Amino acid sequence: MARTFFVGGNFKLNGSKPSIKEIVERLNNADLPQNVEVVLCPPAPYLEYTASLITKPQLAVGAQNTYLKASGAFTGENSVDQIKELGSKWVILGHSERRTIFHEDDKFVADKTKFALGQGVGVILCIGETLEEKKAGVTLKVVERQLNAVIDEVKDWSNVVVAYEPVWAIGTGLAATAEDAQDIHKSIRDFLATKLGEKTAGETRILYGGSANGANVASFKDKSDIDGFLVGGASLKPEFVQIVNSRK
Ligand code: PGA
Repeated sequence: MARTFFVGGNFKLNGSKPSIKEIVERLNNADLPQNVEVVLCPPAPYLEYTASLITKPQLAVGAQNTYLKASGAFTGENSVDQIKELGSKWVILGHSERRTIFHEDDKFVADKTKFALGQGVGVILCIGETLEEKKAGVTLKVVERQLNAVIDEVKDWSNVVVAYEPVWAIGTGLAATAEDAQDIHKSIRDFLATKLGEKTAGETRILYGGSANGANVASFKDKSDIDGFLVGGASLKPEFVQIVNSRK
């Protein structure tokens, strides 16, 4: 089964109504291929606003985080039902900024993944090694540990998209080479095949994230295990359209 090209825009803690309007209108007015799925992930207060601006079927909205309880005394959190009510079809979980700055561990990410999927929201599951881990040669060990935590909790991966984001490449301008990324993506797919079967592994999209931009995405084009991108900084800029169109 062909895997639909997927591009996520992770706005992080950036944006305002005028700037988000500009980003969405640029995509609404662009000539996008039919077979692309673009998920815009603004800060939670702008989910509904972002969703209200979308006019193209290829575009959808996702949240940057959610919690693992439906309601209750959890000050500052947003539930899955709430982000869903505001138009989110997806949620990013396990982003390295959540793991490092907010101390989210593998089990917490896995529990949130299970909960979000159970409530009908797709999960963009971020995994990836730090520079120290890369230097120590344990990249695969790290991503397999991160995946295993979720595999222990989730058997149906039909609404999971994996984003391989080496931490050293995020926001640094130093993207992985397409060849290196392809090698890791292939290993991730092989690992998923051993754990979840060939069919699931073959159908699961694996995105690359980490300083992807309008200039470097073309180099990833012929890499068979790279099914799209999770884009931070460049998703706020006009070049995001080029990234979305990079498989045309
Ligand atoms: P970046 O961020 O594209 O700015 O490197 C990617 C991400 O954090 O998802």
